[in-house]
Amino acid sequence: MAGGTEAWRASGLRWEAPAGSPLTPDQARRYSRHLLMPEVGPEGQARLLDARVLLVGAGGLGSPAALYLAAAGVGTLGIVDFDVVDVSNLQRQVLHTTDRVGVPKVESARAAIGALNPEVRVVAHDAMLGPENVAAIIDAYDVVVDGTDSFETRYALNDAAVRLGIPVVHASVYRFEGQLTVFDAADGPCYRCLYPSPPPPELAPPCSVAGVLGVVPGIMGMLQANEALKLLLGIGDPLVGRLLLFDALETSFEELRLRRDPDCPTCGDAARTGRADAAPAPGPVPVPTSAGAGAPEVFDLPWPPRPASA
Ligand SMILES: [Zn+2]
Repeated sequence: MAGGTEAWRASGLRWEAPAGSPLTPDQARRYSRHLLMPEVGPEGQARLLDARVLLVGAGGLGSPAALYLAAAGVGTLGIVDFDVVDVSNLQRQVLHTTDRVGVPKVESARAAIGALNPEVRVVAHDAMLGPENVAAIIDAYDVVVDGTDSFETRYALNDAAVRLGIPVVHASVYRFEGQLTVFDAADGPCYRCLYPSPPPPELAPPCSVAGVLGVVPGIMGMLQANEALKLLLGIGDPLVGRLLLFDALETSFEELRLRRDPDCPTCGDAARTGRADAAPAPGPVPVPTSAGAGAPEVFDLPWPPRPASA
């Protein structure tokens, strides 16, 4: 036929993907740049289409993460946010638009994601994540992307994710700085190992008080999407047990090694043996790279812990 298979398809005639492909012809076209790479390929793309990622917060971190995960074809995106779009959000929260000021963020996010990739199923959780609902919400997901601006939520999320064995891609931002790590319950430290308790509020002002350069949550949120995709595809070296620090003024990245605290109330040895589904004992505990022997646990972690971008 003149024009080949493209013309055949363009004319609306019936066309089927090669036998055995898990993707439809439309999917094969949309995700063609993924399919070219053996690390993804049709099987990896099918895995992404079956995957479920929960974004905690549709703000500065959640916006770029949601857009890139939707573009990548992650089949189900859950979004937890109880806020409405404010005009002061638009400096960095690129999911939202001027004409959606006043609209619930979960609905604004649904509109943006639907326009980008209508194949993605968006599950809106118009709620505040807390100890009473966190386990029920996150249990339906493969990976959680943490963009919360509340320490209370962050600890509740951490404790439930460790208990359920769900990895959390964590990021936080403060003015010109960003931090990123992956908490994997089976393999690495958890948030409570790093920061056993929240800081006094006056030491960790949210960005509504301290300010933030808009691109900083953008950069960190995209790095979160990168880690989430790696976890879903089972490729690369996830940022488990490593804390990446970004300095926007220097344009520099620094990496700290993190150690699991054997006395951690959430993931420590006692908590593990007390659980019926206790993970196997971890290997040697990594020591922070810049630490001498016997250095205190969190000696070189940034203090106070950083909030996220609300
Ligand atoms: Zn821990």
